[in-house]
Amino acid sequence: MESIGRRKFMKSVAGATALGASMAPASGNPGSPPSAGDPARTGLILLTTWQWGVKANERAAEVFQGGGSLLDAVEKGINVIEDDPAVMTVGYGGVPNADGIVSLDAAIMDGTRHRAGSICDLHMIKNPISVARQVIEKTSHTTMAGEGAFLFALKLGFKPEQLLTPESLKVWMKWKANPNRKTFWLKSEKNHDTIGMVGTDGKGHMVAGCSTSGLAFKIPGRIADSSLVGCGVYADDNAGAASATGDGDLMTNYCTSVSIVQAMARGASPQEACEDLLRHMVKSDPRNKDGQCAVIAMNPRGEMGNASMNQGFRLKYSTWKDGKNQLQEGPVVY
Ligand code: ASP
Repeated sequence: MESIGRRKFMKSVAGATALGASMAPASGNPGSPPSAGDPARTGLILLTTWQWGVKANERAAEVFQGGGSLLDAVEKGINVIEDDPAVMTVGYGGVPNADGIVSLDAAIMDGTRHRAGSICDLHMIKNPISVARQVIEKTSHTTMAGEGAFLFALKLGFKPEQLLTPESLKVWMKWKANPNRKTFWLKSEKNHDTIGMVGTDGKGHMVAGCSTSGLAFKIPGRIADSSLVGCGVYADDNAGAASATGDGDLMTNYCTSVSIVQAMARGASPQEACEDLLRHMVKSDPRNKDGQCAVIAMNPRGEMGNASMNQGFRLKYSTWKDGKNQLQEGPVVY
């Protein structure tokens, strides 16, 4: 089923190209960062999930060009989508859990320090990616959850606020009023989407970040891949960065992002690594062919890959390269 966030897919933006056009590999050793004078050393390159990636990339590029680090760029780019109430699967205005509470998950990983911060089941703070960043910068922890994560955010000056908007409340009330509503105690419909962003600064540094309100009407306490390091995000300057979107309950079982980065470390191109992961999922259980799964990846040379499991959950993604933002549709494996 189509998710709330993707129903209104904008057909194209400036310069959208044919399927996968920007995925073509550049010359040179894919695993190694570009050296000075290498044509791959072109500055900031970003790959971001779904149509809102265009806006996120724009902001990330602005931050980077203004002197921010790659980590700043990915964080601030994702903030734009977290702040946007029209994106009902991320941050402010996200569709709530079964109790009507907006619960957010996010993670960010710095491939240079090999250090991640992640936040699970955060209430009342609209920018979980920034709280996750502060886990890296201010603590020696990696993952914080629930009440503790909320108090941590308050201590750092994040402002508590009601994250339900009239629209997301309406969606929840309609669901709640339906006596035949599907819940996650049973097999149910899935409404979700994540902003996932992977990037390089053109010098071989890698960052991955993602942020989501998770599945609509999820059972309170549920967290899935987005805030789990190695699942929703993974970044390593030696091999690349990856992120995932889709059914996090399913994909967590495959540690998608770290599996993709490790495949790149063994020499796979980002495209091969993405497709191989999805194929592996189906090999281990053919029912996964029907799963809602999509992944994105980039290596230290800025070569990109992405893949969706099937046509029913076909990824749109935005790339930022050579100062150009492009929205495209990704390849489907099955
Ligand atoms: N992976 C997220 C989750 O399951 C949702 C999504 O990316 O669509 O919470």
